[in-house]
Amino acid sequence: MAIQDGRYSLIYQSGDYRTMRVKTPTKGNLIGKRILQIKEGKDFNAIAFLTDEGQVRFWKRFRSANPVERLVRIQKAVDRITADPEGTGLAYAMKENRCCRCGKQLTVPASIYKGMGPECARKNWTREDQKKVYRAQALGRIQEQDMPLDPGKRKFREEEPILML
Ligand SMILES: [Zn+2]
Repeated sequence: MAIQDGRYSLIYQSGDYRTMRVKTPTKGNLIGKRILQIKEGKDFNAIAFLTDEGQVRFWKRFRSANPVERLVRIQKAVDRITADPEGTGLAYAMKENRCCRCGKQLTVPASIYKGMGPECARKNWTREDQKKVYRAQALGRIQEQDMPLDPGKRKFREEEPILML
């Protein structure tokens, strides 16, 4: 099943995490396309189209600016999101205190643990989903080498935690 629009995080053993967003524009010339964005600093940067099967179709500029290893890592990260959209959405909510659907700030702990604010939860969340809350911890098993991060920038980013988010 296609990943819903939203924000998803992968948490690594170090406690560090990376966030991606899937967005389907409702206007403009990319209307209806599924766009994959990576969070770098405070910004979400669009890098690819995403097929309904979860294949990342990198945009030319991004593809030519990045080593193939990074492209592979990003696809792997998307595979993990596809395999567990609730868990990775929740991971985003827990890390950033924001709704994984709309990005609105979550202030009530119950909302954070659901991964969504009350409005989005009414639309998206089922009882079954609540059980998946606990799966966020399992995400800790994700290995360092799966990080969708440019290895060349890694050291720098670790020294600059603000840039890492
Ligand atoms: Zn929301």
